[in-house]
Amino acid sequence: MRIDGIDIEIEKKTIKNAYIRVYPENGRVKINAPQNMTDSRIHEFAKRRLSWIKKHLEKTSATEVPIRVAFTRDDMLQKSLPYADKYCAALNKSLPEIRFRIMRSRWGSCHPVKEKITLNALLFHLPEEFLEYVIAHELCHLQEANHGPKFYALMDSLLPDWKSRRAGLKGFVFR
Ligand SMILES: [Zn+2]
Repeated sequence: MRIDGIDIEIEKKTIKNAYIRVYPENGRVKINAPQNMTDSRIHEFAKRRLSWIKKHLEKTSATEVPIRVAFTRDDMLQKSLPYADKYCAALNKSLPEIRFRIMRSRWGSCHPVKEKITLNALLFHLPEEFLEYVIAHELCHLQEANHGPKFYALMDSLLPDWKSRRAGLKGFVFR
């Protein structure tokens, strides 16, 4: 069951009352429910406790990126622009439109034809080296649409340590 972006495991047991457990070490949320409790009642039960669940989830390990954004668009733009300017200059491209949104499966995307890049707003919760890496990556797509040898050669020239940043970024998971 997924409510408001939170995956909730359900286990039915021979118990009288449903209860929720949040496992701070990995961000799992589980509802133990009586055998005869219907899905819609479990859903209601979970919804009523959503703020409680979220509060407990906030205590989970630091490498999980919370699905909420504490930054305004302007904050994000101010942080992104110095990198975007730098790499656009290096690529001899004009600054594309930069958008921000919460994405669950990727850190960024690029639309070369529309000259637009989208950055995952959750990036702004991470150390800035990762923001820089994602910006450089997406801007390289303005020139090379695919992840071919030319793309990676471009990344090598713009950001020589991009591989270690990419590896570091893989250490963060979406919650
Ligand atoms: Zn890419």
